[in-house]
Amino acid sequence: MSYKVKEIFLTQQGEGFHMGKKAVFCRFSGCNLWSGREKDREKSICSFCDTDFVGTDGQNGAKYDSAKILAQKIDEIWSNNCKDKMVVFTGGEPLLQLNDELIEEVHKRNFKIAIETNGTIIPPDNIDWICVSPKIGSKIKLKKGNELKLVFPQIDADPNKFENYDFDHYFLQPMDGHSLNDSILECVSFCLRNPKWRLSVQSHKIMGID
Ligand code: SF4
Repeated sequence: MSYKVKEIFLTQQGEGFHMGKKAVFCRFSGCNLWSGREKDREKSICSFCDTDFVGTDGQNGAKYDSAKILAQKIDEIWSNNCKDKMVVFTGGEPLLQLNDELIEEVHKRNFKIAIETNGTIIPPDNIDWICVSPKIGSKIKLKKGNELKLVFPQIDADPNKFENYDFDHYFLQPMDGHSLNDSILECVSFCLRNPKWRLSVQSHKIMGID
């Protein structure tokens, strides 16, 4: 199988449970909740996306012809002897492409594998860290994992309805955009009243890194 990848880069995880942790980010092209084209945004299920996941024109973006070649590239980008290797498969929607073969090739190179998914696709086995960011209006199939990260407020998004899902950690992440400050206040207020939930900020945006 080949893989369409928008970009691959070394950075620090900017948000959620692993904030500050060094990781290779592998951003797959494509999503099942939005085409990525502005003309389709209003009528898409997910209309607030701020990620460019279209095509293969980013840093190290390409069509990779095999799992082995892609895993080698990820390993090359890690590029030092630090033992605590981690790759975050994101998108777009990574589970449109991530498969057993790629998981095996990456594990062979001693990486821990994390995914950031919208939860509409059941993942293959052997993923080390599952973060689901549900989008209201989509059909959530993946109701268990390590981390649930809800962008808040979303229209009709009541965080309480996710509390019977089976996650170890629950985060609210302020909706970005012109009313970010209001979103932060709403998230903080909710988390103070509901201690199961913690605040996740997008620190990479504050720091101006990818
Ligand atoms: S599900 Fe994620 S990647 Fe897809 S459009 Fe929404 S925010 Fe963007």
